[in-house]
Amino acid sequence: MAFDICGNASSVHAEGRKARRLVEDARRAIAGAVGALPRNVVFTSGGTEANALALAPGLWRGSGRPVERLLVSAIEHPSVLSGGRFPPDAIHSFGVDSSGVIDLMQLRRAIEGAPPALVSVMLANNETGALQPLAAVAEIVHQAGCLLHVDAVQAFGKIAFDINAMGADLATFSAHKIGGPKGVGALVLTEGLSGLPPLLRGGGQERGRRAGTENVAGIAGFGAAAGAAIRAMETDAARLGGLRNRLEDGLRQTSEAIIISDNAPRLPNTVLFTAPGLKAETAVIGFDLEGIAVSSGSACSSGKVQPSHVLKAMGFGSDLAQGAVRISMGWSTTPADIDYCLEAWRRLAGTLLKGSNETRNGSKTGDFLGAIT
Ligand code: PLP
Repeated sequence: MAFDICGNASSVHAEGRKARRLVEDARRAIAGAVGALPRNVVFTSGGTEANALALAPGLWRGSGRPVERLLVSAIEHPSVLSGGRFPPDAIHSFGVDSSGVIDLMQLRRAIEGAPPALVSVMLANNETGALQPLAAVAEIVHQAGCLLHVDAVQAFGKIAFDINAMGADLATFSAHKIGGPKGVGALVLTEGLSGLPPLLRGGGQERGRRAGTENVAGIAGFGAAAGAAIRAMETDAARLGGLRNRLEDGLRQTSEAIIISDNAPRLPNTVLFTAPGLKAETAVIGFDLEGIAVSSGSACSSGKVQPSHVLKAMGFGSDLAQGAVRISMGWSTTPADIDYCLEAWRRLAGTLLKGSNETRNGSKTGDFLGAIT
């Protein structure tokens, strides 16, 4: 339906007003889903742009001083690690433990005795699914007169999120992670936050905070997906958690698989696994040939496979950091899918890990490092 409306949401004629209605309905849906006011939802072209908009020196609240520095955890998405509009010498990072959970002592040390900072921490890591201790982070940040940005892209729609209860001053969301269209997202602000300069200047859309004609169909799709994700969340979380355990048990029984971050609280739908010597890129191709879409934990840029910065921050060596495979599940994943995936893995392990250890179930496994997305 949104594609049938050809009006520009900023036009005053009837077609424009129809488009505006779709945008404002979606704004209310997103605001309602995250406990914010509709006027504080700024639509963007996705999570990357929302992060770039959020990370700005000069933000302040009430009688607080404007932030001058940016503190990010070492496992943030590259769009946060790149620092937004902060100059490089004002960006500092703090580490995580071997489970991929941020080190609160390091955060405290980085905050103390220095000018006010904007701290950016993700709610759930996109590679490991590890949930971060946001309540404790927010307390440290606010006690020090600093501000907190939460990248909620990976967690939204999978676990409950309320921007005020979480103690976030601003938060980032992306539609495609909840089954919505690609190329649309939002930055959500809390009341009383001041000093956010627009990243894109021009026509004054989105209350002057993000110029450019609104992507009406994308935004409408985002609103609809958010509503559906929130409605499905409670039942789906338990169901997905059960599937995840079935998958992880099967991986462990079949091979020497190590489930990364398995002792941390995690998203119910994400499994990242590794095994000594696994070539993740080869495993991803192998799964693809079996009709299963998984991803490697390592990033490929300019044709060169880079070790995962997340696994490196957790203390894995470069060989392991290059070999993790991530498997993600969603609303349409069934127990039969998990069993098919495990059968495929049994076959793949026999080939990919040839020459290494005997598998537990008679197939061959060996040098394997992988995780599934
Ligand atoms: N933040 C996290 C944690 C992500 O996982 C992603 C994308 O995967 C982004 C930000 C970027 O979002 P987008 O792809 O909508 O630009």
